[in-house]
Amino acid sequence: MDYYSSQISRLIEQLSGLPGIGSKTAQRLAFHIVNLPVERVKALSDSIIEAKKNVRYCRQCFTLTDQELCPICANGKRDQKTIMVVENTRDMAAYEKTGKFDGVYHVLHGAISPMLGIGPGDIRLKELMARLQGDVDEVIIATNSSLEGETTAMYISKLIKPTGIKVTRIASGVPVGGDLEYIDEVTLLRALEGRVEL
Ligand code: ZN
Repeated sequence: MDYYSSQISRLIEQLSGLPGIGSKTAQRLAFHIVNLPVERVKALSDSIIEAKKNVRYCRQCFTLTDQELCPICANGKRDQKTIMVVENTRDMAAYEKTGKFDGVYHVLHGAISPMLGIGPGDIRLKELMARLQGDVDEVIIATNSSLEGETTAMYISKLIKPTGIKVTRIASGVPVGGDLEYIDEVTLLRALEGRVEL
């Protein structure tokens, strides 16, 4: 039975389709939204539409950005010869928050998972190999320490080894299966500083 008007039900349904939003939160948000002044609601919906229209992948590192090159790749002070490979944009943001990494990134948008049928062709690996045609000193593999992250790290290191470019893996101080996003900055820094050559 539909307790609410169909319009509110539709809003609740849309909101509950978002990650991390259960049906209770969706209801709370829906009622909050309908009680907001119309300008606030318009600003919210406009920001969603604008972000969707303008956000794309950085042509070099494949993070999400609204420019052709993201601010990190476009920054002349960053060391373009040191590339840190991460699974997603959130992991990249976690390393950026430490403020101690002055290289650039490569965002894979996933990890290899035979169980889920995700192969090397399904992540931005080809694009990484293309970048290595340029002048690169070191590739730091900072995928998660989950099974998928480790599988991906091994696969990448095997691909890169023959090129003679130095390949390192962040130290295993990062808890197994831990999402990089939830790990504190000190642990991340320790993992980065303690990286080992593969
Ligand atoms: Zn970039």
